[in-house]
Amino acid sequence: MPTGEAPQRRLIRAVAETIIAHAEELTRLDQAIGDGDHGVNMQRGCAAVLADLDRIGALPWPQALHAAGTVLVMTVGGASGPLFGTLFMQLGKSLPPAPTRADMAGALAGAVAAVKARGKSDVGAKTMLDVLDPVLAALRDGDDDWRTRLPAVAGAAAAATAPMQARRGRAAFLGARSIGHVDPGARSVALMVEAVCTA
Ligand code: ADP
Ligand code: MG
Repeated sequence: MPTGEAPQRRLIRAVAETIIAHAEELTRLDQAIGDGDHGVNMQRGCAAVLADLDRIGALPWPQALHAAGTVLVMTVGGASGPLFGTLFMQLGKSLPPAPTRADMAGALAGAVAAVKARGKSDVGAKTMLDVLDPVLAALRDGDDDWRTRLPAVAGAAAAATAPMQARRGRAAFLGARSIGHVDPGARSVALMVEAVCTA
């Protein structure tokens, strides 16, 4: 790791590297209840972010997140590309340059609402929102030990998508056969939260 790496650069890099390191797992999850492209989609997007990291990571927090989101929209594809892109772009729009926990919770609330609107979806449909929403609640209602608490909250929320029946996205076509598998997009969000909290 270069010394003096800007925090936004370090966090964006950690998220992208973590997703790339878990691409095969994400592929396997999407093979079970989707078309098997989620790992490759996310890997492509995160590789594009890393390729552009010198530019993105040098920007202030809001612009860096917005730029990363823009790259994801252009490169991830599938249903999840525009949704993850919306998440990061909206975070960038509402975060001040030196965010506190309350600022982060406020920005995440806006970003989660934007993902819900974009996906015409909500909690309980077995999607990434089933991790985003509990993470938001834990960040908003908790105290400043969020770095140690949120990974467990996100991991448990991703695991809790397994018994759900999908109501949105490709997995919804499977009906009851979507039950028993973790949602790939939910797992991606949990990996991102873990990466952010560890970095
Ligand atoms: P595709 O479904 O087009 O193949 P991906 O495999 O990359 O795209 O992404 C699938 C993930 O996208 C799902 O696991 C789910 O978490 C998320 N997703 C799909 N549709 C929606 C939606 N309407 N709202 C929120 N998340 C969604
Ligand atoms: Mg897919």
